[in-house]
Amino acid sequence: MTHIHPHEEIENKRKVKEQLLNQHSVAIWMSGLSGAGKSTIALELEKMCTQQGFVTQILDGDNIRTGINKNLSFSDDDRKENLRRIAEVNKLFISCGIITINSFISPTEASRKTARSVIGADNFVEVYIDAPLEVCEQRDVKGLYKKAREGKITQFTGIDSVFEKPKHADITVDTVHNTAEECARKIFDYIKLIVSVERRLC
Ligand code: ADP
Repeated sequence: MTHIHPHEEIENKRKVKEQLLNQHSVAIWMSGLSGAGKSTIALELEKMCTQQGFVTQILDGDNIRTGINKNLSFSDDDRKENLRRIAEVNKLFISCGIITINSFISPTEASRKTARSVIGADNFVEVYIDAPLEVCEQRDVKGLYKKAREGKITQFTGIDSVFEKPKHADITVDTVHNTAEECARKIFDYIKLIVSVERRLC
């Protein structure tokens, strides 16, 4: 490490890129149980952002785990490394002026705190995608709860691995009593004040 000297100038171009894109970048971090609705809402939210002229990038658990993090397992160490890389990827997008929409279970307060501190608290909006285990299990979009109940998957969040309800979420959306579009709208209404350049220049 002593022979590595990062060029600060390379990392200091955010303002220029934000001006080009006419937006302020931020990381939207959605946590919640598998099947709570993170990916569905991410797509709805991206659609709303695009319609309003904001440039976004969705970062989603399964896509990341089949791409940049495909060499990682679900061991404690690899879960930490998974999150560290995701947070670093967020930093690159943010320095490029792009709004990220993250969709990761991120089950513990510690995991969300790490993401917040690596990405930077000023760049971080935490969203809890709230649906109780019974509903997620009933939806069982990917058939994973069934497999977890049968013991074919272990360490499955909500079954034999903990999910700590977020205590510091900026927004919570209830996906049982609201449609995906309504949930995305609530998130969009919150972040549009942060990402719009007009407001930042006031
Ligand atoms: P996650 O990414 O959290 O694992 P998914 O988005 O893959 O969850 O799956 C959520 C499932 O729940 C989808 O089949 C979706 O159609 C359904 N669903 C029902 N109501 C909602 C809602 N209000 N918000 C998001 N998804 C919902």
